[in-house]
Amino acid sequence: MERMEGLHEDLAALSDLDEQSLLESLTQRFNQDRIYTYIGDILVAINPFKYLPFYEKEASERYKCHEKNKLPPHIFAVADRAYQSMLGRLATGPQNQCIVISGESGAGKTESTKLLLRQLMELCRANSQLERQILQVNPLLEAFGNAQTVMNDNSSRFGKYIQLRFHNSSVKGAKINEYLLEKSRVVHQDEGERNFHIFYCMLAGISPDDKEMYGLLDPTQYRYLHWRYGSEDTVREWGEKYRELCNAMDMVGFEEQEKVDMMTILAGILSLGNIMFEPMESDGLRVTEKSTGWLKATAGQFGVQEEELLKSLTCTLSVTRGEAIRRLHNQQQAEDARDSIAKVAYGRVFGWIVSKVNELLAPNVDFDIVLNEIEFFAVNRFEQLCINLANEQLQYFFNHHIFLMEQNEYKEEGIEWENISFKDNKTILDLFLTKPFGILSLLDEQSAFPQASDRDFVDKLNSKFKSSPHYEVVRSHNPLFTVVHYAGKVQYNGGGFLEKNRDTIPASIRGLLINSVTPLLSVLFSATISRTGTLMPRKAKVVQMADDNFNSTRKQSVGAQFKHSLAVLMEKMFAANPHFVRCIKPNGSKLPNQVDNKMVMDQLRYNGLLETIRIRKDGFSWRPSFKEFAQRYNILLIKPDLPLTKESCMSILNTADIHGWKCGSSRLFFKYWHQEEFARLLERL
Ligand code: ATP
Ligand code: MG
Repeated sequence: MERMEGLHEDLAALSDLDEQSLLESLTQRFNQDRIYTYIGDILVAINPFKYLPFYEKEASERYKCHEKNKLPPHIFAVADRAYQSMLGRLATGPQNQCIVISGESGAGKTESTKLLLRQLMELCRANSQLERQILQVNPLLEAFGNAQTVMNDNSSRFGKYIQLRFHNSSVKGAKINEYLLEKSRVVHQDEGERNFHIFYCMLAGISPDDKEMYGLLDPTQYRYLHWRYGSEDTVREWGEKYRELCNAMDMVGFEEQEKVDMMTILAGILSLGNIMFEPMESDGLRVTEKSTGWLKATAGQFGVQEEELLKSLTCTLSVTRGEAIRRLHNQQQAEDARDSIAKVAYGRVFGWIVSKVNELLAPNVDFDIVLNEIEFFAVNRFEQLCINLANEQLQYFFNHHIFLMEQNEYKEEGIEWENISFKDNKTILDLFLTKPFGILSLLDEQSAFPQASDRDFVDKLNSKFKSSPHYEVVRSHNPLFTVVHYAGKVQYNGGGFLEKNRDTIPASIRGLLINSVTPLLSVLFSATISRTGTLMPRKAKVVQMADDNFNSTRKQSVGAQFKHSLAVLMEKMFAANPHFVRCIKPNGSKLPNQVDNKMVMDQLRYNGLLETIRIRKDGFSWRPSFKEFAQRYNILLIKPDLPLTKESCMSILNTADIHGWKCGSSRLFFKYWHQEEFARLLERL
């Protein structure tokens, strides 16, 4: 990358800026393949949708321990900064770091995460087995958790954060936290979308012998794949991906038998999807003649008795006052039972992969760098509501860090300051999280009534929030409602919310799968995968008939679990030094060299980038206390025993000849670029 004068690499350095000139600066840079731009210490990244020669070995070397304004903005610079800050080499002392990567679907979060991870591994140099394993985690998770959508050919259908633990500058462990895999994709995909990559890769990549062993047939035979496959070229790519995946699994440390079991379960899911039902002349249901073969195949692949499988699909067993009552399903109920087996089996396999990865890569310790990636979804079902809530929470974290905390300190410390207003989303968060009347609490309340319907839930929301500025009632036969998120209005379809929130597996289905002769399947259903992703053996043998209990206590709802993992994440983030990467999608057609101005402007607006520029330009993002500052920089006066007072700070600052800072009542206020100046001064000593 050549440096070019006059193209602004740091927008916080521009004197006059409005929305229009911000857009122009960014697009002008983008048109010259300068996809990265700083706003002070925040990196804006516009997805190029094409290969750029920015990430080669040479670039990776150049950005190690670099001086920020000597090199063009780059994602590697963010990795370097996080790493150096963690080691205490920048102006703050050693501290945990977190990197927050946000943007809409297809904006480049996953790619950015991979680049950051790669560079962080480069920075610790050791080139150990562990680092190679960590780099294999992404291909693994992508195969099982990503799918082609209208928005993105490789869209992540789960939220995740990755934690890295360092010791003496080298990496000591990694841990993946995933939340809310979009399980419904296994059984249904919208127009123009696909199932999870793994199914296609498996079908394209395995040898004819293995194909026979797993009982896999021609890909266009499967209903869960919409009877569709791909062109010759895509099939070749899938096959290639499959081999990479197998490599990754070996590298991370999966055992041969585990892999075989896993593939067999996936094959079973595909066969299961083809089972159809019809009413019998007498009472009850049977499988259609065409699908008897599929029933047999599924039973074989799942390692269960055919009659048992049929029973759990066509009737429910419940226990009331010690008496077992069998209720026959109608056709719809049988199809729902079939789909829920597929969803729960896939979800368990995914959870198992994550916990396995963690077992292999993570010693049980705290973490130093958290890489966070959060997705936006297009269609709005229950999972999307949760993910949008997570985005809302991350925006709040951003606002809190960039605007609230900073401006509060000016006030407290008596610094003259003209307030910069920003779009505070606290009240939207409250709409979701307030107890006992936030959306999630009301959802839990309704989920606890077996008789309540999705309509009842939405009616409750309507009556509770009709006058809230962040909520709109939708008049419709369907249980619809609208939330006014910070990024715009989103209409949700409440259909299926209660069921998804309960996420229970009927006891008969659990019983069926626990008794599977496929070891992995049996383990997946006799263990509970805990929130932290580790497999926990169930203490009590499964006797409850009602639902999926969590270690003998009542299982938490999905909403409540999600709320909990968000709270844990936020706690980690508030205790760490944050770095922000804001990804921007230049156009909706996934094309290179094209900017849709309106689309980009919308993203700049809801990211609050203009306000961010103002606060970075005028504000003081580095605010050490007198003590912190004197302790760290007394060395500039070569007087290690200097008292840690305001006066000492003033002498240091006079000697250092640094300008543009301010002094508060208990701390100093510096611009973001002052940190670099001090780092340079220390280097010269
Ligand atoms: P989602 O929310 O759907 O998961 P995302 O933000 O994770 O979306 P990515 O999958 O990272 O989006 O990016 C979408 C596509 O854009 C990638 O598959 C790749 O083709 C392209 N892309 C993203 N970043 C880059 C980059 N730095 N260089 C080249 N291509 C890129
Ligand atoms: Mg992604």
